[in-house]
Parts: sequence; structure tokens; C-alpha cells
Amino acid sequence: MFQAPKGMRDILPEEQIYWEKIRQVVHKIAKSYGFERLDTPILEEEGLFIKGTGLSTDIVQKEMYSFRTKGRDRLVLRPEFTPAFIRAYLEDGLASRPHPLKLYTIGPLFRYERSQKGRYRQHEQANFEVIGENDPVLDAQLIQAFFSIIRGIGFKDIVIQINSIGCRQCRPNYRRKLVAFYNKRKRELCSDCQKRLKQNPLRLLDCKNERCIAATEEAPQTIDNLCPDCHNHFKNILEYLDELEIPYILNPRLVRGLDYYTKMVFEVWPEEEGGRQSALGGGGRYDNLVKTLGGRETSGVGFGMGIDRLVNLMKEKKIKVSGESSPPVFLVQLGELGKKKALKLFEDLRRANIRIASQFSKDTMKEQLKSADKIKAPFALILGQKEALDETVIIRNMESGSQETVPLKKVVKTLKKRIKR
Ligand code: AMP
Repeated sequence: MFQAPKGMRDILPEEQIYWEKIRQVVHKIAKSYGFERLDTPILEEEGLFIKGTGLSTDIVQKEMYSFRTKGRDRLVLRPEFTPAFIRAYLEDGLASRPHPLKLYTIGPLFRYERSQKGRYRQHEQANFEVIGENDPVLDAQLIQAFFSIIRGIGFKDIVIQINSIGCRQCRPNYRRKLVAFYNKRKRELCSDCQKRLKQNPLRLLDCKNERCIAATEEAPQTIDNLCPDCHNHFKNILEYLDELEIPYILNPRLVRGLDYYTKMVFEVWPEEEGGRQSALGGGGRYDNLVKTLGGRETSGVGFGMGIDRLVNLMKEKKIKVSGESSPPVFLVQLGELGKKKALKLFEDLRRANIRIASQFSKDTMKEQLKSADKIKAPFALILGQKEALDETVIIRNMESGSQETVPLKKVVKTLKKRIKR
């Protein structure tokens, strides 16, 4: 027997209501904040992420599904959205549209991660980006949009973790301080962090290894080392968040590990969790990425929201989602002629927007009425040999058991009246 690839899974029919609910809220909130939808291909050139996300990042080093096509191109299953959005922004002439440009999408991402509960090799994200301006009010309103989605789904106790990791002006100096600090503690660090110290020292701050956490306790903090521009930007964002009454905590260890982030970075967590699983999502500002990928100097800020994680949390928190109620009518057919006429009647009812259940492959009245009972259909339509010949149909009130025979031609009208009542 075949199995789904490791770390990938099927989303069964009964799960779909959660996914639908989240997608609905995402689309509604996106629209209300003025975001337009942009869908990009699932495959992209490998180089896009090497250059955009960064060669030394975990995503590129360990997690990309990359392969060579028959035409010898190096492609990857997209591991994240942001570089793909910027590629489209540059390729499709979006750069010439009025700014800031607000774009969003929802779809699958692929990362070759160690699979465990809540971490899959195919997962879905909603992704929001605001491209073209540097105003901190955009950062704050973007965080508000994330918050509104979470609220819209029905979660209450959510908290934002936020930090600023500086820019090209102030980060080199901070980086030097950080490297000097860790060089003195090199032996206390895990082997990954010893490597990171050369390539990506900010990543040492968010290593989950106990020894590294202990070694980091007294590390210099980014927010004490920001240039005036970054400092003011961050201060303004926090003031806007206060105004919006969005609960946040400053987390000096939050760095988000991708090369393109500048200034503000954030994550969204259920309040009671301080790192137990993964965040519900996160993002930040990226003021150099457009230029890195070949465009003009252009600012951007965005986030990714993990839908799988939200679905799991909805179930944990027993958040109610209303599925569609079952159809009000069950169509019972008997005999060859009855089946033929019922097949046509099903179409007439469907076109008249009456929702109907049926079991065309079952032949006995008993079996079919049992199914009608099971879905608690208030009405059954019965179409047997006699009715088929007379061009009539029986409407049975399932609760009282009373029945009336109506001409086939009038059944839509009569049924609509009965259902309304
Ligand atoms: P990231 O793009 O890594 O910032 O992830 C954004 C959000 O997507 C995370 O906070 C998670 O909720 C979710 N996420 C990331 N990776 C996975 C994964 N492998 N499986 C499930 N959800 C994920």
C-alpha cells in the first residue's frame, strides 16, 4: 500500500470546515485592509531563495526541496512566500503601480523539516506584504491585520512578541559586539552555534539549546544598539500598538533567522505558550530585499501565518465552527422508472437552489428512509413506479408522517412553501 510522503498528510472531509473558516476570515480581513490577492507558482528558481532568504539560513541549508528539471533548470518547491512576491513585483511590473502595494496570498509551502506534531513538510500559510514605503504606521497596521484575523477566527489570548534587529547602518557594529561576546564563551555553545558565529551570529540569540540559552543571558541586546532612525521607527511602532491596544512583549532574543529582515521583527503566540511549539506566525520589515533581488531600493514589511497551526489550536481550544446544515429534503426513488424521473427531479430541485440528499444506488424504501432519518431531513420526496407513471411525487413530512401527492410540475413551488413554513 502506498503512503503519503513523510511529513505530508491528507486533509479529510470533516477537517475542511476549520480550513474553510480560516480561509474565509483571511480573505475578508485582507479585503477590509485593502490587500489584493497575488498567487505565485509553487515552483521557483532555486537561486531566488539562495539570494533572497540567504545562503546561510536553515531554510536554504537544510530545508529546501530542490531538484533539476529535464531542461536542467534548478527549481525548488517554494519554502516561503516573500522572495517569490518580490520576484513577481519586479517581473510583472507591479513596481510601477501606486505604493504602498498591499498584496496577500494563501497556499502551500514545502520544507524538508524533521516531522513532528505541528511541523509538516507541506504546510499552508497566509502571507501578507506591504511593499514600497517605510512608515512605521504600516508595520503597526500590518500587525493589526494579523491580530484581526486571529480574533476573527475566535481566539482571545494572543500576544505579539516584537524586537528590532537594526539596519545596514547599525547592525554591523552590533554584530561585532555580539561576536566578541560569544567568542569568549565559544566552548559553551552547541556545534551549530559555533558555525553560526562565523556566518550568522544573530541566530545565536534564538538557539533553543539550553547551553546556548544560558550563554546568551547577558548578550548585548539589539535595541540598545540601534541607530537613531531604527530607534525612532521601533518606538513609533510600539506607540501605534499601544494606541491599537494590541498586547505585545519585547523579546530581545527574537531575530527570525532570515537574511532579509531589517528593523522590526515580530511573532504571534498563544498567550500561555512561551516557545513550547511554533508560533502562529511571524514576519518583519525587509528594506533591502527588493534591491538584493535586482530592483530599486524599496522598503517592505510582511508576515506569514501558519494555517495548520491555527487549525490545531482551534481544535485544542474547542473553537466552534458551524458547518453547513444538512439538506432539508431527501429524495427517495423506487423502481427503474422512478430512478430515471428522480434523477431528473434532483437536477430541477438543485437548479431551484433546494438542497437535497439522495442515495440513488440504494433500491429499497426502508434503506432510503433510514438515511433520511439519519440526516434529520424534515421532508422526503418519494418517487416510485406509480408516481413516475402519473407524473406526480409524494411529499412526506418526516416528523408527522403525513403525506401529500403533488404533480411533478408543481413540486418545486410546493416544496419551497413547505420548507419556508
Ligand atoms: P515562518 O515562515 O517560518 O516564519 O513560519 C510562519 C508560521 O508558519 C509559523 O509560525 C508556523 O505557524 C507555520 N509553520 C512554519 N513552518 C511550518 C511547518 N513545517 N509545519 C507547520 N506549520 C509551519
